[in-house]
Amino acid sequence: MHKELDNPRQGEWSWQLANSCKDLDTLHKWLADSGSKLDISPEIFTNLLTSYQMGITPYYFRLIRKFDHSDPIYRQIVPMSEELNVLPEEAEDPTGDENPGRGSRPLKALIHRYPNRVLLMPTAQCAVYCRFCFRKRLVGNTAHSAREEDLQEAYDYIKNHSEIEEVILTGGDPLTLGDRKLSHILDTLSGIDHLRLIRIHTRLPVVNPFRLTPELGKYIAGLTKPVWISSHFNHPNELTDIARMFIRDWINLGIPFLNQSVLLKGVNDSASVLRELFMGLVEIKVKPYYLHQADLVQGTSHLRVPIGRGLELLGILQGEIPGYAIPHYVLDSPEGTGKLPLQNPFDLNHHR
Ligand code: SF4
Repeated sequence: MHKELDNPRQGEWSWQLANSCKDLDTLHKWLADSGSKLDISPEIFTNLLTSYQMGITPYYFRLIRKFDHSDPIYRQIVPMSEELNVLPEEAEDPTGDENPGRGSRPLKALIHRYPNRVLLMPTAQCAVYCRFCFRKRLVGNTAHSAREEDLQEAYDYIKNHSEIEEVILTGGDPLTLGDRKLSHILDTLSGIDHLRLIRIHTRLPVVNPFRLTPELGKYIAGLTKPVWISSHFNHPNELTDIARMFIRDWINLGIPFLNQSVLLKGVNDSASVLRELFMGLVEIKVKPYYLHQADLVQGTSHLRVPIGRGLELLGILQGEIPGYAIPHYVLDSPEGTGKLPLQNPFDLNHHR
């Protein structure tokens, strides 16, 4: 195993971020030390990284069991040549974030799609760069990270819209911010009277669970507004003992957790995998909230599952696992109008 993957500091979240794999040479080394090699040419690989960067934490890399695209972790995170295949129906902004007709993004750092809640995007940085990400066009590019004045504008907007009850921190990944910057944001939001809830969307519990430090957990639990964490587990192999332990400690502090997954071909498009994922989540008191139909992101057709198959999978799970373990299966509307439920409506004919 490569020395970076066995470093005594690997339990520090900032070390994980600083030592993540971002280039071809490092990936070559890590794969060679794991007895494997990259299955695409360096030319294609370099071409792929010009349009969307790579990022893999040492911790997440260690979850790979088979070093090719049949492995559910490898498949989510290591670039594939299929990404060069862009279909006409795929878009840069598949969820209509920038749709001017909807006025959904009034400020650089803020999306206002539903009347009573807004998305606040303080950073464009993530701990890893998921190959299927619906915000590929933004993430990893520091030009898209909010500056202090962008955040100030966003705070003013929220203060001036008393109908806003919830702020959802997203990005990028808000938990990649250091404690000082994050606590400044959370303190400011907590001071806005009409806000009732704060939510943090993050993949850190999955790819760098060391970020859930006791200090940050105690601070979040002590805020005057409730802060919900929405994690992003896609496969049961991600529910490691380490991830479970860090999440349990935050839940024990009183911090509630939800989980959003994306339905991905070759990752979780089987009833047994989804069953294990959802049951594993409720076992650690994390509510499976959404199962997202993968958006029409450019170069991701090899990862998408037909909606019919998604409905079939949820149909199999219905009755097999408790109702509260089954998430809502949703599609983000390309027009920017928000989430569309995909589950079949309840068949009332049985009751007539
Ligand atoms: S962590 Fe989230 S925002 Fe970042 S690349 Fe992955 S899916 Fe996209």
